[in-house]
Amino acid sequence: MNSKLNIGVIGVGHLGSLHSKMYAEIDTTNFVGVFDVNEEKRKEIASKFKVKAFTSIEEMLLHVDAVSIATVTTTHFEVAKKVISAGKHVLIEKPITSTLQEADELITLAKEKNVLIQVGHIERFNPAIISLESFKLAPMFIESHRLAQFNPRGTDVAVVLDLMIHDIDIILSLVNSPVKQIDANGVAVVSDTPDIANARLQFENGCVANVTSSRISRNKMRKMRMFQNNAYIAIDFQQGSADVFRLGNEGEGSLWSTMLLGQIGEGKKKRNIIYEQPEIKKINALKYELESFVHAVQTNTRPVVSGEDGRHALDVAQQIMNKIQVQKFSV
Ligand code: NAD
Repeated sequence: MNSKLNIGVIGVGHLGSLHSKMYAEIDTTNFVGVFDVNEEKRKEIASKFKVKAFTSIEEMLLHVDAVSIATVTTTHFEVAKKVISAGKHVLIEKPITSTLQEADELITLAKEKNVLIQVGHIERFNPAIISLESFKLAPMFIESHRLAQFNPRGTDVAVVLDLMIHDIDIILSLVNSPVKQIDANGVAVVSDTPDIANARLQFENGCVANVTSSRISRNKMRKMRMFQNNAYIAIDFQQGSADVFRLGNEGEGSLWSTMLLGQIGEGKKKRNIIYEQPEIKKINALKYELESFVHAVQTNTRPVVSGEDGRHALDVAQQIMNKIQVQKFSV
């Protein structure tokens, strides 16, 4: 498939309107139209990008090869099932679905219909993560904090499925080992599900990840720190930047992009401590993610974040949810 991909967006609230903006800019797509159950919303976004406001999903499916689904999480399954059943490729916003059973059904259906599923784990396309592609990452201890101010959007699911799942997906993509044990706890402060949660994931290879997420914080933070036998890596997803402190051989650390901080060890074991800031490309993560989806469809290759990856992240998120003993905050 070399011609432009005819694409539509289903659900044009906060994120779907951003998908629309990007598809209108991407030159490998022909952005055809949008559908939202909210008539006012679909007309507004359709008129903004001069595309069609379809009156049903079925009508849209007659005109597109692929769609983005950015409806509320609890509707991902029913909407995606219609899209895949019609033989159309789909990018489903994260989390893939609300339950593992639903995710399995979609993955099986997509195989039957020979269509691709990509899941919107956008942090895989964060410039900070992209900048680390040439580093050999093999973390043995990970500490992550994803803190957000309160916003009623997204409270249809627990903070684990809304925010923590971004870090779960990144961690699963970096640690090449099965999860062995999970401990977790959370507090429901302003909704019926945990608004703040902490999980400790232990992997079979010995790696431990301590993951904290909150949607009731005063200040925003999206940071991950990783420790491995030869390096400490700090990622700031918000700034899209990464810092690497690593051990290097004598003589290393003199390039303009690196800084020699000092030395450690003695004799033959003496190593340089090198600070390095990988070059950060100016990338719009959402645009890069959607371009990557379009490329996967056009070349019939595995998406960077497949349906199986989305299912894996959901599986771990569900296990965390099952472990959480929700403490109800009361005044
Ligand atoms: P939102 O409430 O702003 O928008 C959701 C839209 O979907 C609304 O306009 C609503 O009318 C529409 N809708 C609901 N049910 C529908 C249906 N059955 N058919 C068609 N339209 C329907 O929510 P949002 O913040 O844009 O979140 C949407 C999805 O995107 C959620 O799954 C959320 O988890 C995800 N999200 C991902 C990120 C990310 O970083 N990747 C960030 C925010 C939200």
